[in-house]
Amino acid sequence: MKHSIFYNGQWQSHQGDYFNVYDPSNGESLGLVPSASKNDMKKIIQSAYDSFELWSNKTAEYRCDLLEKLYDLVLAEKEEIATIMTKENGKPYGESLGEVIYGANFLKWYSEEGKRIYGQFIPSSQSNKRIMVRKQPVGVVYGITPWNFPFAMITRKMAPALAAGCPFIIKPAKETPLTAIKFFELVEKVGFPKGVANLVTGDAKKITEVVMNDERVRKITFTGSTEVGKLLMSQSSQTVKKISLELGGHAPLIVFDDADIKKAVAGTIASKFRNCGQVCIATNRVFVHESIQADYTAALIEAVKVLKMGNGFEECVKIGPVINKKGHDKIHLQLEDALSKGANLLLGGQSHHVGKVDSVGYFFEPTIIDQVTTNMDIFYDETFGPVIPIITFTNDDEAIKLANDTPYGLASYFFTESISRGFEVSEKLDYGMVGFNTGAISSAQAPFGGFKESGIGREGGHFGLEEYLEVKYICLEI
Ligand code: ADP
Repeated sequence: MKHSIFYNGQWQSHQGDYFNVYDPSNGESLGLVPSASKNDMKKIIQSAYDSFELWSNKTAEYRCDLLEKLYDLVLAEKEEIATIMTKENGKPYGESLGEVIYGANFLKWYSEEGKRIYGQFIPSSQSNKRIMVRKQPVGVVYGITPWNFPFAMITRKMAPALAAGCPFIIKPAKETPLTAIKFFELVEKVGFPKGVANLVTGDAKKITEVVMNDERVRKITFTGSTEVGKLLMSQSSQTVKKISLELGGHAPLIVFDDADIKKAVAGTIASKFRNCGQVCIATNRVFVHESIQADYTAALIEAVKVLKMGNGFEECVKIGPVINKKGHDKIHLQLEDALSKGANLLLGGQSHHVGKVDSVGYFFEPTIIDQVTTNMDIFYDETFGPVIPIITFTNDDEAIKLANDTPYGLASYFFTESISRGFEVSEKLDYGMVGFNTGAISSAQAPFGGFKESGIGREGGHFGLEEYLEVKYICLEI
């Protein structure tokens, strides 16, 4: 089946090239998606720009009502969206359904919060002056999303952008554009004014270059690798666009000597194996106090052993395929490097290829290794796969120092039954997000984002709305 791109309020006929989307569990083709040309991109920007005045001048109630309508439509078709997601991404169907609901929550939350864009009236030091501050939409926004969350990463950007009054253009990843296309069938039904919501697919580099050279696009919001994030940051300087970057992570999970082991194991599983470990907030380094390492490791092995691997539509499957060969090879090389430098394989370690083509169809067993040390690649490089490396520590300061020893600063997790120790640790961790006795931290109301090379800005909650707003100061002399 051949798909289309959506702009200026309608699906557009496409004359140019198409690219194939594959099922990562078996390599089957799922459809052909347009490769937009530079000229297409210029037209999309024009239509978004043309809609800005109308959209930003609508009342907040009007904009928010449309978002709420979109939320209702998404929930009504959640199973269809989840089915497409599992096909193109490979994640277990239950996870896909969970992502659709999580993603829909952003539409709902911003349909409420969009009515609360308040300004300020500030007392002046001069008696004849009045200082007023108003918030106004930044302008046309261009979003780039990754393949690991094909739906929620779009709504997390689009909902606050539209609520704030900004026209929005989304470019999903080439691996998973079909979920976005299905979502835009619902966007079309809502009936946003022409040009307000737009979907473009194709060569990321080519399309993005057009955006970067166009001063009418005022904001870039990106989720993806730190490498591409740095590139976008430098490109966006050409026209000084606002940027939000949600980049890589290398989350530590610390199990202190007074941790509840059951909770710590459940938290490790929750934060590690979602989407086969291909998550920027996935636990990538587990630090365990030496006094409980044996008990924690034994319980973890038991819990991981039962995780069924296979096609995401099969019953009870918890571990789907890795997205492609490149992803598989990175996991494999990291593991080989660790084992060659003295790590000890406790579980898993094998991978299988079942694909019809070489580039996709890879499964990697859930894997646990211990005796991991700082000279191994897995200690510093982001792992995008189902491997848990265990590192033993002897005191709190050492654990925190090791946990912070990374250029990344996205998510972190720890387990302790002591509230005061927990507060201290939360404050010392150099991370934008901290899970205290939990491995599940994402929610529409909370600010998601990272320190250091994990990014700039926040998504979710009121902070996420501020990213799409300019601050205007008006000085009145009376
Ligand atoms: P991953 O390696 O996990 O695919 P990327 O950062 O490469 O992570 O991809 C995330 C998103 O960024 C995808 O939508 C991809 O198409 C897009 N992307 C990749 N390279 C570029 C680029 N040079 N310019 C703009 N977007 C890009």
